[in-house]
Amino acid sequence: MTNADPSDHDSPLPVARTVSELRTQAALWRREGLRIGFVPTMGALHEGHLSLIDCAFAHSDRVVASIFVNPTQFAPHEDLDSYPRQVARDLALLADRGAHLAFTPGREEVYPADFSTMVQVKGLDEGLCGASRPHFFGGVATVVAKLLNMAQADVAVFGEKDYQQLLIIKRLARDLDIPTQIIGGPIIRESDGLAMSSRNQYLSVAERAVAGRLNVEMRTAIMALRSGAKTGETLAQLRETLNQADGASVDYLELRSGDDLSALPENAVLDQVSLATGRLFAAMMVGKTRLIDNMPLSPADQ
Ligand code: AMP
Repeated sequence: MTNADPSDHDSPLPVARTVSELRTQAALWRREGLRIGFVPTMGALHEGHLSLIDCAFAHSDRVVASIFVNPTQFAPHEDLDSYPRQVARDLALLADRGAHLAFTPGREEVYPADFSTMVQVKGLDEGLCGASRPHFFGGVATVVAKLLNMAQADVAVFGEKDYQQLLIIKRLARDLDIPTQIIGGPIIRESDGLAMSSRNQYLSVAERAVAGRLNVEMRTAIMALRSGAKTGETLAQLRETLNQADGASVDYLELRSGDDLSALPENAVLDQVSLATGRLFAAMMVGKTRLIDNMPLSPADQ
């Protein structure tokens, strides 16, 4: 592994910057009969990311984490330039967690100047985050297809925090015959239940308090649905409650199947099947920060 960038000289774990370096190491491991686990990230790591490293270890002998802030999944008005970049800290966290290799490609390594291919996973990319961020899943699917091909790992782990993204990645791996098993890891939350996210750093103290309400109100709505409240009315009530908080504005609240994202009945009392397989999906702006969350309706899954 080269440490071409002087800032990496003190790196607490080996760093691959090119696909060739990554594959050289992976080939050595494979020759030793070791299974490789892969955790793609955009850095600014927190316990949610690190839990995926643990999950990768449960399925493999050597764990690679990538750190790459993917430009193709950001719209021009989004936070690509201000997205938190803390590579030295991230490398220390990865080393502490036992990861064996960090893959930190530069932009040109991933997207050469004449790059011209995009991956689209139709259907699953419609609605939820696909509605308010129409460019987003094309960018995610493209970079993840590339990263999976680069790493050629046995398993790759993605968080249920981005549940729509997880299903899209499972589908693309199957459709494109990528021989990496895709595994989902549970959502890791702060002590007040807020789903951990690199973007939580953007929140002011007052916004952070509002952000903490999202999961609490979602749980209240789920309890109501389980007790026989109708879906439409419950979501309307939830929207109203969340929108009342200072600086909060709901993007979407939807009930969908956790298996294939098909919509649950619109204004109905949910039957046992819907309660067993359904999830509540939410996105909300708090000030300028976009938060997402999702939860199963079934108590057995919580
Ligand atoms: P990101 O760096 O935000 O692109 O996330 C990298 C991976 O970490 C994705 O698979 C995310 O779903 C996952 N992830 C992010 N936040 C959490 C969380 N709070 N709990 C579990 N996984 C997470």
